Amino acid sequence: MAPTHGRSPGAAAPAPVARLLSMTSATDRPTRRLLLVHAHPDDESIGNGATMARYAAEGAEVTLVTCTLGEGGEVIPPELAHLTADRDDTLGRYRIDELTGAMRAVGVADFRFLGGPGRYRDSGMMGVPENDDPRCFWQADLDEAAGHLVAVIREVRPQVLVAYDERGGYGHPDHIKAHLVAMRAHELAADPAHRPELGAAWHIAKVYWTRMPRSVIERGLAEAAVRGLFPGVAQVSDIPGVVDDEVITTVFDGTAHASAKTAALRAHRTQIAVDGEFFALSNDLAQPIVTTEYYQLVLGEPGGERPETDLFAGLDVAEPASGREPAGSEPAPASAESLR
Ligand SMILES: [Zn+2]
Repeated sequence: MAPTHGRSPGAAAPAPVARLLSMTSATDRPTRRLLLVHAHPDDESIGNGATMARYAAEGAEVTLVTCTLGEGGEVIPPELAHLTADRDDTLGRYRIDELTGAMRAVGVADFRFLGGPGRYRDSGMMGVPENDDPRCFWQADLDEAAGHLVAVIREVRPQVLVAYDERGGYGHPDHIKAHLVAMRAHELAADPAHRPELGAAWHIAKVYWTRMPRSVIERGLAEAAVRGLFPGVAQVSDIPGVVDDEVITTVFDGTAHASAKTAALRAHRTQIAVDGEFFALSNDLAQPIVTTEYYQLVLGEPGGERPETDLFAGLDVAEPASGREPAGSEPAPASAESLR
């Protein structure tokens, strides 16, 4: 035991886990810490699966907060059709297991549900009667919901937050609410006067929104059409977070973790069908599995050249000695014209 924070020459380097356990104050924690906020189980794997896998593999702390269980989702496998809300209404419980499998695939141990599993119910697509259910996330009091996230932020002390844009990527009420909650919690967590019982104030240095460059998705959908693996091909408007290429500030190369991302997608079997390098949701419309993931920095200072290639670029965070890629060894920045 007897953890010491000084170097002990001659002693074997401690294992990463032991090293983490020996560090109690945030200033002693050497790792990069990433927090992602998502609406439903599966959104994290589609949008950020490669990012999560690569940072986890590099020894960063990755924390996922999912706001609902996705109880309102449709179900793809016929033998599981009885799980839906209009039949057994047990899809939420099932999707906890799917998320558990997905997080195992990308190597993330810290995943939580906002306020605990089932605290906020899936609100359904915009305009459906479920939007008015008092249990649903859409109806949740903003500061109460944000309070649960403030507690996580003050505990984990992430330097980087990944969330959705103000449309939640594509207009689903739970995604819009997840955006509002994430941005509100970012603000409240940094205010020492706000609910000090939730922990010491913490300012998250950088906030990103998950994005998809229009040129990349157009190319991927055209390829999906040629391959013809699914009955149809998604439209650009079906894809969350699509923006003009110039909006992208950060290009994260997760291609080395493509198999982990694909395995995570497969784990969400009630929601996602995978075929090769493509997948489809319950609408049976093909989309490419994109393993270079894209972001827009919306709060905080960019680090280095644009586009950034690391969400932590410019931050003063050192990697543990056991990290596979020491800080500063990031790949050469991609050119602004060619995003992949
Ligand atoms: Zn979703």
